[in-house]
Order: sequence, then C-alpha cells, then structure tokens
Amino acid sequence: MFDVIVVGARCAGSPVAMLLARRGHRVLMVDRSSFPSDAVSTHYIHQSGLARLQAWGLLDEVIDAKTPAIRTMNYANHGIPLVGFADPIDGIDAVYCPRRVVLDEILVNAARRAGVEVLEQFTVSDLVFADGRVVGIRGREGDGPDREFRASVVVGADGFHSTVARKVGAELYNVRPAAGFTYYSYYSGLDWGLHHKTGFHEQWYGTWPTNDDLNMVAVICTRRQLKEFRQDPEARFLAVLDDVEPEMAQQLRDQGRREEPLRPMRYPDNYYRQSHGPGWALVGDAGYHKDPITGWGMTDAFLHGELLADRIHEGLSGARTMDDALADYVKVRDEETAPVYDYTTSVAELTLTPYLETVLGAISTSQEWTTKMLGIIAGGVEGYEIFAPDNLDRLYDDAGVPQHKRIYEPS
Ligand SMILES: Cc1cc2nc3c(=O)[nH]c(=O)nc-3n(C[C@H](O)[C@H](O)[C@H](O)COP(=O)(O)OP(=O)(O)OC[C@H]3O[C@@H](n4cnc5c(N)ncnc54)[C@H](O)[C@@H]3O)c2cc1C
Repeated sequence: MFDVIVVGARCAGSPVAMLLARRGHRVLMVDRSSFPSDAVSTHYIHQSGLARLQAWGLLDEVIDAKTPAIRTMNYANHGIPLVGFADPIDGIDAVYCPRRVVLDEILVNAARRAGVEVLEQFTVSDLVFADGRVVGIRGREGDGPDREFRASVVVGADGFHSTVARKVGAELYNVRPAAGFTYYSYYSGLDWGLHHKTGFHEQWYGTWPTNDDLNMVAVICTRRQLKEFRQDPEARFLAVLDDVEPEMAQQLRDQGRREEPLRPMRYPDNYYRQSHGPGWALVGDAGYHKDPITGWGMTDAFLHGELLADRIHEGLSGARTMDDALADYVKVRDEETAPVYDYTTSVAELTLTPYLETVLGAISTSQEWTTKMLGIIAGGVEGYEIFAPDNLDRLYDDAGVPQHKRIYEPS
C-alpha cells in the first residue's frame, strides 16, 4: 500500500512524486515511457519555472548539461518589438531551454533519489475503486501480467489523453478551440539567441538555442492553413520565416543545417478539466492545457506540481481532510492561471486585438515598460502592474497615447 501513486513521470508527475517522497511519504510513480526519452514539446522554461527547479536543487543539473543561458528576448508581435530581459526572479537572470530528453531524465532521477519507486514502461489501463473512491491503479509493465497497486491518492499526471481523467469521468470546462498547429526541428550552424515573432498573416516563428549546440526552430500557423501546409511542409516552413522575418529565412537557408526531421503537432483544444475527486487528482496537461505559444506548460506543471504536493501532504498528515485539500489545490490553480489562459488563447490566434495592439505599442516605446512586460511573461511581475486601469493610464501618459486611442479592456 502506497500513500500516493503518480501516473506519468515528466514535468508534472516527477515533481509531485519527488516532493512527497522528500516529506517521507511512500510514493509509486509509473510511466509507459522509459527514460531518457523525448516528448513532442519544445522546451522554453520561464524564470518562474526555473526558480522551482532551483528551489528543488535541480537547476544546476540543467546548466551542467550544457544548456545555453539566454539573456536577451527578441519578441515581436505584428511589428511591435519587445526586446530586453525581465528582472531576475529569485536571482535567476537567464532562461534555459533544455531538451525534454535532458530535462525529463533529470526530473525522474531526482524523484528516484528522493525515494520514489519508479516503474518505467508500465501502462495504466484502469483504476481500482472502492466505496466510490479511487484506491489504486491497474496496468502492466511491457508485456507482463496485469498488476494492481493501491494508494490513498492517485495522481494523474498523464498528459492530454489522461487515462486517469477518462476512468474517473472528469469533465472539461472553459474549453476554447485550438487556434493552430506547429512544425519544429533542430538546426546546427546558427547563432541566433531567442526570437519569438508573430507576423501579419497569422504566422509565427520562434527559435532558441538548446543542448548540443543546436537551435530549435518552430513555426506556428492557424488551422485554416493546415491543409496547404501538409502538401509541402519543408517549403511552407521556410515560407513562414520568409513572411515573418525574411533575413532570418535567408540565414537559415545559407547557414542552417537541419539535423532532425520536422515534427508536426496539431494542438488539442485549450481546456480546464475537473481535477479532483475522492482519492484522485490531476496535474499538468491532464488537468489544464493551453496553446504552447506562451510556453507556460512546463512552468505551470512545476508550479502546480508543487502546489498539489503541498496539499496532498496536508491531507496525508491530517492537517485537513484530503478532499478539502484537493479542492483547494484546484481553486488556487484556476484562480492563478486565469490571466495567462486569457492572454495565451488570445495571442494564439496570431492576430492582435485592438486592445493588445494599443497596450503593446505603448509598452514598446519604453525600456522600463518593456522590462515590466517581459517580467509578466516570465512570471515575476503581476499582470495588474500593467493591465490595471490606473497603470494603463500611466503607461499611456508615458507613451503619449492620446485619450481617444486609449483602450482599457479586451473587447
Ligand atoms: C509542440 C509543443 C511545444 C511545446 N512547447 C513548450 C514550451 O516551449 N514550453 C513549455 O513550458 N511548454 C511547452 N509545451 C507544453 C508542454 O509540453 C506540456 O505542458 C508539458 O509537457 C506537460 O507536462 P505533463 O507532465 O503534464 O505531461 P506530459 O509531458 O505529456 O507527460 C505525460 C506522461 O504520462 C505518461 N502516460 C500517459 N498515459 C499513461 C498511461 N496510461 N500509463 C502510464 N503512463 C502514461 C506519458 O508516457 C508521459 O510520459 C509544448 C507542447 C507542445 C505540444
């Protein structure tokens, strides 16, 4: 009998398991993958996410894996630039973008070192119920026989297509249709730093340096372009860069060498999912997913992994009932993520609302406001510091925006 079973061992699952084991709880973590292994995901981690890795003693392992430090952000949205870097968060003055094959192994090993029992290549096929509560999992390791494990709480950290969510019948809410799709790959021969740019024709490209002296290069387009894109992905990939930033496209042709195949991903819809019930909870993409364009998936997985571990600890130690503790986890998660969810689902459309065009245009006229906006993006500055009406007025005054052009709320 375990205290907690965690299904899924990547950005959300490993931190939950590790943090609970460090507090003395008996934890089993299973994943149908084995590690090290890659995931379909790029790998931008915000400073606030890196701060969690630092607090857990894992950031040095990411840096030691020769993950390059990034200290300049080159953002642009419809020609409005935001260039600079956010103020340090918990002393972290750089961004690191480790490949998932690197990061996820660091996380799983840290969980194992903390005392978590880890079963790789174990696929969960069902949950065990008793008296209306989840009391365990059922599944098998590779081609082995069916096995059953029991615990006080089962955590589903098993991604979009969560088996745990399906088996408990967790409902989706606040669903917003997916805006687009991505293709990405890895290139040598580029010395580009980080760029994150949306053009005028519902097209985006992003790039950042990662391990092994490679640059990840990705494009995103809106769904209506998918059929055409699929007809010739190689050509369309370059055409997006041609459209958004022709000089970079030329450099890619002249100097870049693609080292891996292009990886496609059509995004699922954005959603929140009911994330707790008797004996179970969901964390990471299993419980809350939004378009990757703002790069908040892993940072949220860390933040909510820690939040959930704290609440489960309270439940296990008797400080409050487990049901109450899990309900509070979801309440806090939903309240804290609402602004990023709104911002992400808006910019994912790759168009710019008049509101954001006005606000971002004003921000870009000053380095001080740009640094503040980059701080919001990084998770170190509260959104109200720009977006509250009083602060918008100060911003508009500084930027000389006339009264009749000022917008205070998204339409
Ligand atoms: C194209 C793309 C680009 C992205 N770029 C970024 C980015 O730059 N920055 C960022 O922060 N986020 C990014 N994201 C989002 C990020 O990848 C996710 O938010 C993050 O991986 C969620 O972590 P997770 O642990 O919840 O789920 P996952 O990483 O999906 O892990 C789930 C795990 O559960 C296991 N599992 C599933 N079902 C079972 C089962 N039945 N039994 C056992 N194990 C099971 C899987 O094997 C897997 O290992 C991107 C996503 C995509 C698709």
